[in-house]
Amino acid sequence: MAEKHYKYVILGGGVAAGYAAREFSKHGVNPGNLAVISKEGVAPYERPALSKAYLFPEGAARLPGFHVCVGSGGERLLPEWYTEKGIDLILSTEIVKADLQSKRLTSAAGTTFKYDILIIATGSTVIRLSDFGVQGADSNNIFYLREIDDADKLIEAINTKKNGKAVIVGGGYIGLEMAAVMKINNFDVTMVYPEPWCMPRLFTPEIAAFYEGFYANKGIKIIKGTVAVGFDSDANGEVKAVKLKDGRQLDADIVVVGVGGRPLTTLFKGQVVEEKGGIKTDGFFKTSVPDVYAIGDVVTFPLKLYNEMRRVEHVDHARKSAEQAVKAIKASEEGKAIDEYDYLPYFYSRSFNLSWQFYGDNVGDTVMFGNSDPSSPNPKFGSYWINEGKVVGAFLEAGSADENKAIAKVARLQPPIQDVNQLSEAGLSFASQL
Ligand SMILES: Cc1cc2nc3c(=O)[nH]c(=O)nc-3n(C[C@H](O)[C@H](O)[C@H](O)COP(=O)(O)OP(=O)(O)OC[C@H]3O[C@@H](n4cnc5c(N)ncnc54)[C@H](O)[C@@H]3O)c2cc1C
Repeated sequence: MAEKHYKYVILGGGVAAGYAAREFSKHGVNPGNLAVISKEGVAPYERPALSKAYLFPEGAARLPGFHVCVGSGGERLLPEWYTEKGIDLILSTEIVKADLQSKRLTSAAGTTFKYDILIIATGSTVIRLSDFGVQGADSNNIFYLREIDDADKLIEAINTKKNGKAVIVGGGYIGLEMAAVMKINNFDVTMVYPEPWCMPRLFTPEIAAFYEGFYANKGIKIIKGTVAVGFDSDANGEVKAVKLKDGRQLDADIVVVGVGGRPLTTLFKGQVVEEKGGIKTDGFFKTSVPDVYAIGDVVTFPLKLYNEMRRVEHVDHARKSAEQAVKAIKASEEGKAIDEYDYLPYFYSRSFNLSWQFYGDNVGDTVMFGNSDPSSPNPKFGSYWINEGKVVGAFLEAGSADENKAIAKVARLQPPIQDVNQLSEAGLSFASQL
């Protein structure tokens, strides 16, 4: 079988891969030296669009509109860009074997790719209800959303099941975004999740109360404290109902499941050190294996600000870790040193006309400020997290670009705070005056 050799191989064709390719080109890469190998059939794109504008009934985002790096205000890397730069973009190619000792990757079709330096950017995969043996979980019209193909199949079902009933399983950010987008598509939407409030990994009960109230005002039904334990389907195998643990049964034409992700580390099991479920790296995204780097969702890296190892499944880290790894590779080739990665966690989400950003760490006590009445025509509110006398995290709904910058600064500087009540009264001006 054919063997190809590259100086650098990026394994994966998602957000991190695209930003890494751009960083290589900034530093200058000789034609034929770099390959990006992706299971997907399209060039790297800004994945967050899939649960937002990609599913709009009108004015939907479509490729090539959201190829990386538009999401961060950068140049859009069209498929031609890779050709112009002499980068081999190898699409629809799944790597099924990675031998980190002999520096070889093997594709499903049997092609071998030999590399000098490997960057693992395989991202995450969705957790499926069938993984837990949930009865009927293989029925048609039960969707998961990770890749563009998943979104295309969902669009087909949205068009076939017009004005039908949608059940969203999961109350995280995918669940919330999908509930909104299905409502915008005129579906009758019910969300189901086991936790007492939505997005419990980040939201306080007070923050969640706003979003749940807002969604309820839009006509979305929310069922909390129970889980889907089975699905009924018709003679064509199409889902008809979701059975809940508490005995209730919900009619459904479409089910969208968003119950979390799992980093794609399987190819490297036993070959590389892992920690907290991800591939362990240093602050330059070097793994335990020489000449192998890892970036994006798949890595557990030192989060310098909090002095601990973390894995972050968000797009901002995918972009920044990619840039850092390529800078580190280039610097080591030139015998130079660069600073260690010093990441400030940043997450965001958008649904309906809502838009929030969060920076820092969500630990300690919290104070809310602003107008969080879900019935208000212009809600705008935020929250600070205070740990050991310092403000360590900040959340803002409906912030302007400058205001979001201000809360990011708070999370980065971690100012000490004596009087928590004062912080609540000062609200956003505490951040703006810093
Ligand atoms: C629907 C959706 C909405 C999101 N919205 C937000 C948001 O609003 N805000 C936010 O911060 N984050 C969001 N995220 C998370 C964000 O998109 C991810 O953190 C980011 O894409 C991670 O980048 P990555 O390159 O590590 O992984 P990915 O972008 O997932 O890319 C991994 C790539 O590797 C390929 N691959 C995997 N295994 C193989 C193999 N064996 N052979 C070949 N190719 C392989 C995959 O096909 C894929 O192309 C969202 C994610 C999803 C799925």
